Amino acid sequence: MRVSFTNGTAAQQDRVLVAARAWSKYANIHFEKVSDGPSEIRIIFDHKKNSSVIGTDADLPTFFGVASMHYRGFRPGPDVIAHEFGHALGLHHEHQHPGLTIDWNREVVYAFAEAEFGMSRFDVERNIFDRHGWSGKSVGRFDRDSIMIYEIPADWTNDGFSIGNTPVLSWRDRSDIGDFYPYQGAVQATYWNDGRYTLLSRGLHQKMLSKTWDGNAWNVADDFDTAL
Ligand SMILES: [Zn+2]
Repeated sequence: MRVSFTNGTAAQQDRVLVAARAWSKYANIHFEKVSDGPSEIRIIFDHKKNSSVIGTDADLPTFFGVASMHYRGFRPGPDVIAHEFGHALGLHHEHQHPGLTIDWNREVVYAFAEAEFGMSRFDVERNIFDRHGWSGKSVGRFDRDSIMIYEIPADWTNDGFSIGNTPVLSWRDRSDIGDFYPYQGAVQATYWNDGRYTLLSRGLHQKMLSKTWDGNAWNVADDFDTAL
């Protein structure tokens, strides 16, 4: 995916790409900085809030020539960058999971979000309170460790529900992104003289797996990692 910037120094831009690679380590995604021509991810620094449009929405006519990802200041944290790139890869907020019922202390959240992030009540409803619909296979079980969840202090809820800081991709984040952007499948097949058949394949996280057909059943060998 091509990434372009409208401002910031080369060093500020490059550290965004480094943090974004938290995702490309686990999936068939590559981010490349471009200085002209079209780009899927268009970043502007020093904006009033951190945000990104979701996935291919960046290609909608309303977004032509307009930034698709915004950061407050010029040095967002790696966790913020990973979160916004998660949106750019098509991921929604985990705290808006359709299976989750949070008893929000709404006035506290409105006040905090406006003071801290300049968010309107509409922004708060759309980004925090509203729950997404079930959309089949793309919705798994709720993952409270996801990088796509907001930190929720206990005083934001009426029943003490809270979520701590989630600074890195969770196990589920890594697994899911590998499913959504998979590597190629089988990379090598070998027939042996004794009639066995071995298939070497590349699975999630670029992990190499091998299994052998012995004429009756597949025997899964000890899998091994490529140097990553
Ligand atoms: Zn977000």
